[in-house]
Amino acid sequence: MKNILIFGGAGYIGSCATKHFLDNGYNCIVADNLIYGHKEAVDMRAKFIHADLLDLNSLKDIFKNNKIDGVVHFAAFAYVGESVANPQKYYQNNVVGTINLLNTMLDFDVKKIIFSSTCATYGEPQYTPINEQHPQNPINAYGRTKLMIEQIFSDYEKAYGLQHISLRYFNAAGAMGNIGESHEPETHLIPLVLKAIKGDIEYISIFGNDYDTPDRTCIRDYIHIEDLANAHRLAYEKLGDYNGCINLGTGIGTSVKEIIKAAELVSGKKCPIKYAPRRAGDPARLFADNQKAKKILGWEIKYSDIKDILQTAWEWENNRRY
Ligand code: UDP
Repeated sequence: MKNILIFGGAGYIGSCATKHFLDNGYNCIVADNLIYGHKEAVDMRAKFIHADLLDLNSLKDIFKNNKIDGVVHFAAFAYVGESVANPQKYYQNNVVGTINLLNTMLDFDVKKIIFSSTCATYGEPQYTPINEQHPQNPINAYGRTKLMIEQIFSDYEKAYGLQHISLRYFNAAGAMGNIGESHEPETHLIPLVLKAIKGDIEYISIFGNDYDTPDRTCIRDYIHIEDLANAHRLAYEKLGDYNGCINLGTGIGTSVKEIIKAAELVSGKKCPIKYAPRRAGDPARLFADNQKAKKILGWEIKYSDIKDILQTAWEWENNRRY
């Protein structure tokens, strides 16, 4: 039960989850193609395998050569804009890659999977907070790839007895000690705000200050990666009792301006800003109804204050290794 394969375990959330599983007595094999992942982020206690979901032979070798009881699957391309410009890349990697993984799992009689899904599967919110019953109408190819995979899981459950939980993340944030957020290119709000404060970039662009929100900037639900990591383990331990989808967010909405203010408080420095036009496809507000995660997983959130989340990100930003 305790031997897990973490695919995409060199990425931001995957590397944090790997550390958390290891700390809780699991044996972890991390597989990653290192296109966006960082080898330095992988905990030394895990066995690392350089592998790609599109290479069926190397996938088979992983299952042939290692004892694997279940899979935690993070490996995906996740740039929304790129998914619209180059959907082929996203359907191939995210959807075909996951089908390869599932079919290999079944060949080796491995039937447990935890999957990184996203609130992007909901598309434009019809109401907030967003619960799992909210209609799923993704507005970009990235969100559609994740929705398709959720649907494939249901069919594989009925036909082959797959045990699956898809975790729909809201905005992952913060750092766990010496592992943190590092994307190339970086597009996410919190790392860019911290870079602007440090002077690594000239300013942060606030995308839109004409939204129908109290301070006119977009509201998101920032969930600390340690809380995300913990939810993955709780979900893995629920496999067999529950199949389906669960939101992971704090349930608290924080605006772009509130993030900037919290970052200024934590760092004690001013953040240079510029107002810019809205970014295409950004809804005004997105935050989670997380009752299901609490009820089914017994999930408790450790980081509910955005300043505490930013504190961990700020410490990481000042001591980053990659
Ligand atoms: N955002 C911004 N400036 C930036 C990057 C992001 O104003 O340089 C805003 C973005 O419009 C959104 C929020 O910050 O409302 C979070 O964006 P991010 O890209 O971090 O995550 P997303 O919500 O798109 O997954």
